[in-house]
Amino acid sequence: MDQQLRAGPADYNRVLCDLLALEGQYHWCVALEDFTDDFYAVTCPHCSVEVTVAVGDYGCYSAVRDWDLGDIDRRALRPASAEELADPGRWMHATAVRDGQLQLAEGIRHLFGRVECPRCASAFSFAEAYTIASRPGSGPSTDWPSGTIRAVSTAPTGWDPSTSTSRGPGYSMRPLGTSSA
Ligand SMILES: [Zn+2]
Repeated sequence: MDQQLRAGPADYNRVLCDLLALEGQYHWCVALEDFTDDFYAVTCPHCSVEVTVAVGDYGCYSAVRDWDLGDIDRRALRPASAEELADPGRWMHATAVRDGQLQLAEGIRHLFGRVECPRCASAFSFAEAYTIASRPGSGPSTDWPSGTIRAVSTAPTGWDPSTSTSRGPGYSMRPLGTSSA
């Protein structure tokens, strides 16, 4: 599949997503959109407020989402530098840069950067908050994240569970959007 990525397919994100899924990084697969208008919801580890994180054409910011007023009290995201990135972000970023997927690479730097909480002003790692929210309970989860975390996205098409050697043939993907947030 790495060969597919080098060829720069139109569905580049999906191929990258498949590679992430093979590594058990399902939650990053879900997060990995094209960064045109993506929003994520994470919980501030300090004050437990739900923080909306936007990465894309609307801007790169954290905010509190108000149903009437929209995203209020916005704070600029603090993207990680390429040197600061930890895996799988480092690998994702390096792969995207190698293949000339610069918008994707920029989005990845924001996802693995720091978020400032609009309420308590503490800065926390989006990747950590996102990973914790995506893996409730102990041990790595083979299930899709639900409830507290959601990426506004659709399920990748063409998914073939039989290629997921680490999970066995019994693993199947649940379509996004079936869980109530
Ligand atoms: Zn907070």
